[in-house]
Amino acid sequence: MARIAFYTLGCKLNFAETATLARQLVAAGHVITDWEAPADVYVLNTCAVTHQAERKAHKILRQLHRRAPQAKLVITGCYAQRAPEAFQNLPGVALVATNAQKPTLAQAIEELIQHDVANPGLRGATEWAFWPSSSGEGRTRAFLKVQDGCDYRCSFCIVPKTRGPSRSAPPEAILQEVQRLAAAGFQEIVLTGINLGDYGKPHGIPFLELLRRLEAEAPPTIRRFRLSSIEPNLLSDEVLDFVAAHPRWAPHFHLPLQSGSDRILRLMRRRYQRALYEGRIQAIRQRFPHAGIGVDVIVGFPSESEEDFRETYRFLEELPVSYLHVFPYSERPGTVAATLPGSVPWPERLARSEALRLLSLQKKRTFAESCLGQVVQVLIEEEGEGLSENYLRVQVPSASAGEWLAVKLIGLGEDGLAVGLPLSSKPEIPTFAPHGTGGLANGL
Ligand code: SF4
Repeated sequence: MARIAFYTLGCKLNFAETATLARQLVAAGHVITDWEAPADVYVLNTCAVTHQAERKAHKILRQLHRRAPQAKLVITGCYAQRAPEAFQNLPGVALVATNAQKPTLAQAIEELIQHDVANPGLRGATEWAFWPSSSGEGRTRAFLKVQDGCDYRCSFCIVPKTRGPSRSAPPEAILQEVQRLAAAGFQEIVLTGINLGDYGKPHGIPFLELLRRLEAEAPPTIRRFRLSSIEPNLLSDEVLDFVAAHPRWAPHFHLPLQSGSDRILRLMRRRYQRALYEGRIQAIRQRFPHAGIGVDVIVGFPSESEEDFRETYRFLEELPVSYLHVFPYSERPGTVAATLPGSVPWPERLARSEALRLLSLQKKRTFAESCLGQVVQVLIEEEGEGLSENYLRVQVPSASAGEWLAVKLIGLGEDGLAVGLPLSSKPEIPTFAPHGTGGLANGL
């Protein structure tokens, strides 16, 4: 039996994969400890989406090596896939595994523990296979990976290289995992992927068919499904109609925009222009007046002028969306964008990020205010706080983790969190109002 500690950087997929790896190692008889506690093996699951994420990986390793110079280190994830040589000769590093090798990583760690193999280098699978994984946030909401990899070639993005081609799990495997999560007590499942809307490769089963199967076959104790980020050109009317017709599916959508300038979108090699994006937001709003809508934006892309940025700002200002995730552009070696002229100075990238961050705060507040007086279904995630179907964080004083409550939104706290008044402590399942008839239930 060995003590194994994990540190994960980056996206929900990485977290899902760490959790799956941990479950496999626990099943093999090992124990998981905190990163700060003494351990025999430390596993760092890295991210390569930004330069900062890569720097952070090195910082974590330096700190760990000072604290535990004898520890065996295992490095995996997107940075390990992009540049394994960045880790191979670092002190204490016993194994560097690429993303493609993650499905066999538990075995490799086992060997490392049993036979004390030092620096075995890269091992395991070299083909890109789908590796089913999921993670839980608290004990109420789980992230389930249903798709991995990407066939798009956005010019700024390293992910198609670090996660390989688009591929997805068949519905049967996903349903099996849903059963396991339900048995473990989870009540909400977030479907995740790198390019979720591209679900269906290589087996050919369409995304909508997966949603139908989940709706028909998932146990009723899974009270809510939520979709994570989806490319705007892949969010079809059929998917929106499906969500509108099935109360178990949350009226919450996250659509990466990246830029509100068509010129920049072309340089980014995105598969849409702003008109399409705007149309998708309207299509959501027509069906769900109170849907939570999140937007990803990149600022400071090469050659983005002040006017391009203002165009993005004005576009977002007008769009009826509820929050923004803002990223300053980060050059990634090996991408087309990294070779483009017109690099925007970092102080300018940061100033543009800050302007959009402030806009996001306004949007969040306006959205929360527009929901006051509505009744929402809140799954309490921690003492006194939970998440509604339309992605509002709601304070419900004295509610306990795991409770599922119909709550009337009665005000906003200073921190911008909505405050809710439970209508009953034990509602029947499900208690949603049909989305198709005006979104959330109105009033009492
Ligand atoms: S859709 Fe574009 S941004 Fe998203 S993972 Fe694929 S290449 Fe990267």
